[in-house]
Amino acid sequence: MPPIDIARPFSRILHYDATSGKARVEEFGLRAEHLGGSGLAAALYEASGLAAASPDAEEQPIIFAVGPLTGLFPLMSKCVCGFRSPYNGQWTESHAGGRLALALRFAGYDALVVTGRASELSCLIVGGHRVRAVPVPFLRGADVFRTGKYMRGMVKGFSGHRSTIRIGRAGENGVGFACINVDSFRHFGRLGSGAVLGGKNIKGIQVVGDSVSALPPGKSYPSLVRDIQLAVTTTSAMRKYHDLGTPENLEPLNKLHALPWRNLQKTSDSGISDMTGQRIAEDLLLRQSACAGCPVGCIHIALLREQFGDEHDYLYKQVPYDYEPLFSLGTMLHITDPERVLSLMDETEKTGLDCMSAGVALAWAAEAFEKGLVSEKETLVPLRFGEWEGFETALRHLAGRDNDFYRLLGQGALAAAACYGGDDFACVLGQEMAGYATGEVFFVAQTLGFRHSHLDNGGYSFDQTVTEKDAGAAVKYLLKDEHDRVMLTCMVACLFARKVYTTEKLQECLSSLGLEDMAGVLPEAAGAVRDLRWKLKMGTGFDPQKARIPKRFTEITTWKGGIDATYMEETRGLYSREILRMGGR
Ligand code: SF4
Repeated sequence: MPPIDIARPFSRILHYDATSGKARVEEFGLRAEHLGGSGLAAALYEASGLAAASPDAEEQPIIFAVGPLTGLFPLMSKCVCGFRSPYNGQWTESHAGGRLALALRFAGYDALVVTGRASELSCLIVGGHRVRAVPVPFLRGADVFRTGKYMRGMVKGFSGHRSTIRIGRAGENGVGFACINVDSFRHFGRLGSGAVLGGKNIKGIQVVGDSVSALPPGKSYPSLVRDIQLAVTTTSAMRKYHDLGTPENLEPLNKLHALPWRNLQKTSDSGISDMTGQRIAEDLLLRQSACAGCPVGCIHIALLREQFGDEHDYLYKQVPYDYEPLFSLGTMLHITDPERVLSLMDETEKTGLDCMSAGVALAWAAEAFEKGLVSEKETLVPLRFGEWEGFETALRHLAGRDNDFYRLLGQGALAAAACYGGDDFACVLGQEMAGYATGEVFFVAQTLGFRHSHLDNGGYSFDQTVTEKDAGAAVKYLLKDEHDRVMLTCMVACLFARKVYTTEKLQECLSSLGLEDMAGVLPEAAGAVRDLRWKLKMGTGFDPQKARIPKRFTEITTWKGGIDATYMEETRGLYSREILRMGGR
């Protein structure tokens, strides 16, 4: 096979039909139009014409897409997963790092599209020179770690050029927020990609980067790579991510009254002194790791020691930790012993649940338990704030969909509240909230954001830096920020590098690869991708004007005082009208 042409005008797509077991390679579209990543996934979904079909129809695809800069510049390390969400039925995306993006790049593909359903539980192996499914019925019910260990033995060689993605019981059982684990420490987390893979009877996919890629000719490329490498490693731009990592946010957000505690009954608590980023690093940090192609290394891995058997027997586990799971499985459940929070994270990893959605859904369940809306008859174990053992067992029940209560809770806190009551205190902003109780703009931004993610735009940052309550200014900020982030998610950059990769820098990078045509239209093409994503989301059921923010979010106090419901409603109204406009309605 000749080296992969990095300046080719079309995208190279590997399609795999799990029903027939057949694969084909397609030269798709024009890269200068759909760019890559978010844009490529959306263009592929639009071309498939399946928006009107049921979200769980076998022919619905799950798409893994990388960008034109993947593997060629520092921190161009992410992969976009596009799918119809089992949580809400809508077209959505999830993003993950690990080695997947580079493995796909070095297998010679811009995207892998999987459709159909395998006749028995299988693992898929793909590369530039191979596509095959391996039946693995004996892995049914196996946890993410055992599955990963087995899969890593399926292909010999290519160490460092392989990526192993897989699901746990939650994905097999169709939990609405089951995730896909990527190379042990990263995830396609939110909105249920794991259940989509499980619905295809695919336990995991191993991508082997077994091809070669030519480097661009000329001197501009190496000198640009050197400049960016220096910017991300020697300036302050990325330091916080490497040093304490995102857990550094715990203390300042608590001080700012923006850290959700006890199902957002509070936004600050003195218990934070037990669980600061500094303290976890001093007591438990084992090592740091990085996605392939990233010199920063923000992945913090703790050593968790758990006793079993007699008093001298211990299990040692490596558990990755970030700010988000420390909030969702820690402060939100009012658990402040870092080792116990790590135990919950480990259980969440094993079962293949998304840690943020699972923690926030369980926080709703604990408050419903406290208020007597549900009892042990439903929850099977006592769920009390601060008592980690009950939550650890509940995570297993959630992944197993063990009764009606857990089946509903696995579709989110609002689905459970519709049956048992308690929708006022369901901390749901489009999906279970992210850990930023910063104020009105963030609550609107997550509720209406394309992925309902704190990473869709910087709404939380606007709340923290702007004191005036000007809905027009807030929406203007959200629109500009979303557009700029779409550019990055088309490339597909780690969003932590957004200050380094300005529009001009991205254009320089593209030009150095011989993609001047794409560089010239980058801002306009990103605008078209943004609009297409909204069109697809609305065409698959999203109505921004029907999105509501539960009462709990109006009851809290932030650093600016009480929530201003009028300002929030005005921002919500303005932003939803802009979304309708972008989606062509
Ligand atoms: S900064 Fe962290 S998440 Fe981003 S690419 Fe590097 S290791 Fe991965």
